Amino acid sequence: MIYMIPQTILIVGGGTAGWMSANLLKKSWPTVKITLVESDSIGTIGVGEGSTPFLKQFFKRIGASEREWMPQCFATYKAGIEFSRWSEKPGFTHYFHPFFSQLDIKPAEPFFHNAKLQRQGIEADAHPDAYFVNAQMAKQCKAPLAKRRLNFDLDYGYHFDAGRLGLWLKDRAIADGVEHIIDDVTQVEVRDSGEIAAVIGAKSGRMAAELYVDCSGFKGLLIQQALSVPFKSYKQNLFNDAAVAIQTPLADEQDIPTRTLSTALTNGWAWEIPLTNRVGNGYVYSSEHISGEQAEVELRRHLGLADDTDISAKHLKMKVGRVEQHWAKNCLAVGLSQGFIEPLEATALMLVQFTLEKFVTAKQSLQQESLVRDNYNADINKMMEGIRDYIVTHYALNSRTDSDYWRRCREDIEVSDNLQALFQAWKSHEQFESELNKQASHLVYLRPSWYVIMAGMGNFPMDLLTPSQGQVAPVNLSKQYCIDLVEDLFPSHKAVLSQLAAG
Ligand SMILES: Cc1cc2nc3c(=O)[nH]c(=O)nc-3n(C[C@H](O)[C@H](O)[C@H](O)COP(=O)(O)OP(=O)(O)OC[C@H]3O[C@@H](n4cnc5c(N)ncnc54)[C@H](O)[C@@H]3O)c2cc1C
Repeated sequence: MIYMIPQTILIVGGGTAGWMSANLLKKSWPTVKITLVESDSIGTIGVGEGSTPFLKQFFKRIGASEREWMPQCFATYKAGIEFSRWSEKPGFTHYFHPFFSQLDIKPAEPFFHNAKLQRQGIEADAHPDAYFVNAQMAKQCKAPLAKRRLNFDLDYGYHFDAGRLGLWLKDRAIADGVEHIIDDVTQVEVRDSGEIAAVIGAKSGRMAAELYVDCSGFKGLLIQQALSVPFKSYKQNLFNDAAVAIQTPLADEQDIPTRTLSTALTNGWAWEIPLTNRVGNGYVYSSEHISGEQAEVELRRHLGLADDTDISAKHLKMKVGRVEQHWAKNCLAVGLSQGFIEPLEATALMLVQFTLEKFVTAKQSLQQESLVRDNYNADINKMMEGIRDYIVTHYALNSRTDSDYWRRCREDIEVSDNLQALFQAWKSHEQFESELNKQASHLVYLRPSWYVIMAGMGNFPMDLLTPSQGQVAPVNLSKQYCIDLVEDLFPSHKAVLSQLAAG
């Protein structure tokens, strides 16, 4: 079983993806020699500060407790994402996409019932927020750590300072025995067979390994440039290709929300990510519809910083899409080099994890390597397409009327056949559940997420009939259940973070 595992690995790039790779691969194969080479003149992307619940498993896997890493990275807990002003439909201008847990089973069932009624044109209480524990968690600024022991895991994510997380991961990997080289890779030697023979560093010269991990960022130095693996753009599905980021201070007395806030602006959306020492903000936009300069002005206005020129902004370009093969020959692409969807649901690091964990499993397979590799690439592509479709849904269902951008997102965006089938099924009353089941092997987001987005955006018929008595499930019971549960079971977010920082 051991024979397919490479004995030497060279990782190119020391961003979050590079150091996550170093940690996970070292934990998985402790005797393998792992070297990471990174440039000190080419910076990391320096954003990417929100996660999905998968990241919890990453820290577990590398044996790091929250006490060890969170305070060092100014990290906070995340119960989900609040979407604001994506829809103009009355009653649906805000909704919360929660991470789900077993605590939701009881209060959420009436939501599914009511959403189904309202899809059928019968007025019901079908806005999702009242029915999910984590929506209430965020509202009350509570930490998702139960005061009493539960016999199941609660799903939650994190917010963190990307630069600090990179440094923390780097120290950890080096302590575990990963070799670290600072150098610029200037050339990649490729054999006639198409395999990478070595990378050439400006100072270190020739560096060879059995496996090369490309974590060089959007340019994909190894996978795209040296191996010429084709890149499939998602430009027709997702118009945003740029971002501007601004950090703002956190007021001393401010409660720290347990959520990312995503607010639709005129030509994209703004994120707000609360950390323990500051707030990360940014505007993700389409450069076809607004210039970087205008986007910065709009973001500053949105943040109330119009006259504050002391606070600087960072402008970024995004290449949206994916490589055709993430594992090609003796090269594995991880992070931005393998592709990027867009940060709306903060899924990029989840993809990094998935790419690495699946690779470790695949490398231990006894099947023929070419077959294993084809299946592996198909799986990662399926995952990326699954995430893309969920993100496309936010744009396709928007009802904003303030710009050509939002009209085009509604009318011109390319929607995959799978997604089209889900939209149709939602409208055709009975078939939504069966369509979800039919697509189960392709969906990255599960049933509750699909209900939440479809209902949360107000995707219901315009003219609604009055329900008959007893037809609608009472919303107040669920709402009160969530309020009481959160008040009783969960501690203040700020207090928990202070305790973690105190050690
Ligand atoms: C606007 C925006 C918001 C985002 N928000 C989120 C989010 O909320 N959640 C999330 O999970 N993800 C998010 N992401 C994605 C996230 O930032 C990245 O997935 C993550 O930071 C990993 O980046 P990386 O390590 O692949 O690349 P980078 O950070 O770009 O690192 C590339 C590394 O390669 C090195 N390098 C490049 N060329 C050479 C060379 N020739 N020689 C040697 N070294 C070289 C660089 O020095 C650097 O160390 C966001 C991205 C953007 C653009």
